[in-house]
Amino acid sequence: MNSRPPITLRDLAALDVGQLKGIGEKKRASLAAFGIDTVLDLVATYPRRWVDRTNEARIADLVPGQEALVLVAVRSVAKRTTRNRRSMVTASVGDGSGRMEVVFFNQPWRERQLKEGLQIALFGKADTYRGGLQMSNPIVDLIGDRTGKIVPIYPQSEKAQLNTWELAGWIEEALRRCRDRGIADPVPKQVVSRLGLIGRSEALSSIHGPDSIREKEQARRRLAFDELLRVQMVLVLRKRELERSSQGLSHTVDGELVRRFHEALPYPLTDAQTRVIGEIDHDLASSNPMHRLLQGDVGSGKTVVAVSMLLAAVQGGHQGALMAPTEVLAEQHFTGVRALLGDLKVPDPGNLFGDRPLRVELLTNRVTGSERRDVLAGLADGMVDIAIGTHALIQEGVEFSSLGTVVVDEQHRFGVEQRAALRDKSSGHVPDLLVMTATPIPRTAAMTVYGDLDVSVLDEMPPGRTPILTKWANGPLLEVEVWADVRHEVAEGRQAYVVCPLIEESEKLEVASAEETFQRLAHDELKGLRIGLLHGRLSSAEKQITMDLFRSGQLDVLVATTVIEVGVDVANATMMVVLDADRFGIAQLHQLRGRVGRGQHASTCWLVTQEHDEGNPRVEALVASTDGFELAEVDLDLRGEGTLMSTSQKGRSDLKLASLRRDRELVVLAREAAFEIVDADPDLVDHPVLRDELDLLFTEEDEGFLAKS
Ligand code: ADP
Ligand code: MG
Repeated sequence: MNSRPPITLRDLAALDVGQLKGIGEKKRASLAAFGIDTVLDLVATYPRRWVDRTNEARIADLVPGQEALVLVAVRSVAKRTTRNRRSMVTASVGDGSGRMEVVFFNQPWRERQLKEGLQIALFGKADTYRGGLQMSNPIVDLIGDRTGKIVPIYPQSEKAQLNTWELAGWIEEALRRCRDRGIADPVPKQVVSRLGLIGRSEALSSIHGPDSIREKEQARRRLAFDELLRVQMVLVLRKRELERSSQGLSHTVDGELVRRFHEALPYPLTDAQTRVIGEIDHDLASSNPMHRLLQGDVGSGKTVVAVSMLLAAVQGGHQGALMAPTEVLAEQHFTGVRALLGDLKVPDPGNLFGDRPLRVELLTNRVTGSERRDVLAGLADGMVDIAIGTHALIQEGVEFSSLGTVVVDEQHRFGVEQRAALRDKSSGHVPDLLVMTATPIPRTAAMTVYGDLDVSVLDEMPPGRTPILTKWANGPLLEVEVWADVRHEVAEGRQAYVVCPLIEESEKLEVASAEETFQRLAHDELKGLRIGLLHGRLSSAEKQITMDLFRSGQLDVLVATTVIEVGVDVANATMMVVLDADRFGIAQLHQLRGRVGRGQHASTCWLVTQEHDEGNPRVEALVASTDGFELAEVDLDLRGEGTLMSTSQKGRSDLKLASLRRDRELVVLAREAAFEIVDADPDLVDHPVLRDELDLLFTEEDEGFLAKS
C-alpha cells in the first residue's frame, strides 16, 4: 500500500531532468538550452502538433494542388547542385499506399537530417511532376520510430540536438514514474465536475499521449483552464486584499447635485450611460474603494459619466479630480467640463443664499505663480470642488482637503504606485477610482489584462452622430482622388487632418517625414490652402498656437504626426487622411478616425497606402466596420496570441496552452471560479496545493506586472 500524498508541481520542480533514464550530461545541457531544467519544465513542454495516424491522408489520397499532411518513411536521399548553383536535396518517401518525391531547395542540411528509414510527417502541396507526385519545400516533422495512433510532435531543435521522439520518451518516462502516487489536483472537486473538466493527472497523460484527438482536446481544455485559473487567482487575491486593506468612502449617490446636473443636460442619457452610472454608483455607495475600468469607444459619451462621478464626491462634501495624460488634453477637458457644468451651484449652509458656485480648477505644470498658489490653497481647504489636470495633481506638494473620487483618462497603466500616491493625498481613505479608455479591449482579454479591475462598457453611441465613411486609397493612382476630396471639403468650409507616416523606430525620422509631407502638400497637392504642422518636437506653446488656429478655423488642413491621436476635438473637421495607413495598427487607426465625425456634417476617413496592395486585412477591417469592439476582436485574431507577460518575463506563469482568443469562455469560467474560491477561503487555508502552486509559478515580478495594468 502506498499512502504517500499525490505528487505536486513543486515536487516535480525539485527533480532535475538529469535523474531520468537516458538523460546524460550532453542531453541535459541541450535541454537546459531549451529552458528545461526540471521534470516540471519537461512535462509542461507541450506538443506543438499532434498527428493523427488513423486519419491523415495517405500518399494515395493526395490531390495535386491541395495542401495536405502525410505520414511517410524516408526511402532514399540525394543531394545535387542545380544549374543556377542552388542546392537541391531530393528524398524518395513512401507509405503503404504509394511513394512520391520530395525536393528541398537551398536546404542542404536536409541531406543529413533525412536518414533512410526515418518516419516523417510532411505538410505541403503535392503536384504532379514527370508522371509522379512531388512536394517541394514542405514542412517536415521528424517522428522517429514512435508508435501509437496519435503522435505528439514537440518543438524540435536541430541546433540543440533535441528531437521530438526523445522528448516524447522522457516525458513518458517521467509520467510513468508519477503513476503510483498520482498527480495532485489543486482545483476544488465541485469546480472540476461543474465545468466537466477531466482530472489533472489524466490531462497530463492525454496531452502527451492521447488515444484520440477528442481526448487531446479534453486534456488541452483542462490544462488551459488551470493556466487561466492561476492568473485569475493572483488577480482576484490581490483585488480582495486591496479591498480589505484599504478604507474607502461611502458616497452619497442620490444627491441633489448629480440630479440637477443630469436634468440640465441638453440631451437624455443613453441607456448605456445610465447603466454604467448605476454600476459606478453601486460601488461609490459601498465603503470598499472602487477600482473600475470604463471602456467606451471614441464619442460614446464618457465625459458625462466621469463628471457624474466627480459630482457624487462633491455632493457628499468631498472633492473630485480628473486626470489626463497630457497638458493639451487636460486643458481641453477643463474647458469642456466647465461648459458642461454651466452655472451649477453647491449647497453651502454658511452662505446667505444657501449655496455657492461650484469651483472647478485646472492644475498642470503650466499653471504657475500666484495662480498656482491659489489653486493649491483651494484644494487644501476644500474650496476647490473639482480639479482637472495632469500627473501634476498627484505630485508632492499637492494636498486635498478630502479627495473622494478620481477619474483617470486614457492611462492604461495606472499602477500600484499611483494608487498609493492617491491614498497619501487623501488623509487615509482611498478615493474611488475610475480609469477610462477609448481603446476597446475584448471583454475576456480585459478580464485578464485588467484582472483586478471591474469593467464597465459604454457600448452605445449617443444619437445624432454622423457615421464616418472610411475609404481605402490603394496606391498612388487613388491618392489623387484623396487630395481632390480634401480640396472639395475645404471649399465647403470644412477642415481636414492629414496624419503622416508612423515611424516607430525614430521620432527624429518621423518629424522629418512630417516636415517633408507638409512641404510637399503646401507646394503641390494642397497648394493655396492654409496648412499647419503639428509634431512631437514642437514646444507645447508652439503646439498650442497651431491647435488654436485650427480650432478657430484659421487653418484648413492640419498635417500632424500621431500626436493628435487622443482627444483632440474639432467638430468642423470632417476629413481624416492617414498616409501609409498600413504602418498603423487597427486600434490606432480607429482612434485616429475618431477625431472626425464629431459634428453634424458627414465625415470621411481616407486610408492611403503607397503601393497598390492586393489585400490588407487591417485596412479592410476598418473600411468594413466602425465598431471599436468588433475591430478589437479582429485585431486579436490577426495578431494571434502574443504573450500575457512582458517578453522578459515569459516563463512558467505564462499561458502555454490557453489562448485569450480561442478560450474566451474559459477565461470567464476561470474568473468565476477564482472569485468562488477566494471568497470562501481568502487565505487559501483549505487549498494548500493551489496556494503553493501560485507561490511556485509566479514570481513577485509577474504579480507586479499583472497588477500594474
Ligand atoms: P468620449 O469622451 O467617450 O469620446 P464625449 O464624452 O466627448 O465622448 O462625448 C462625445 C459627444 O457626444 C460630445 O459632443 C457630447 O456632448 C455628446 N454626448 C454625450 N452624451 C450624449 C447623449 N446622451 N446624447 C447625445 N449626445 C451626447
Ligand atoms: Mg466607495
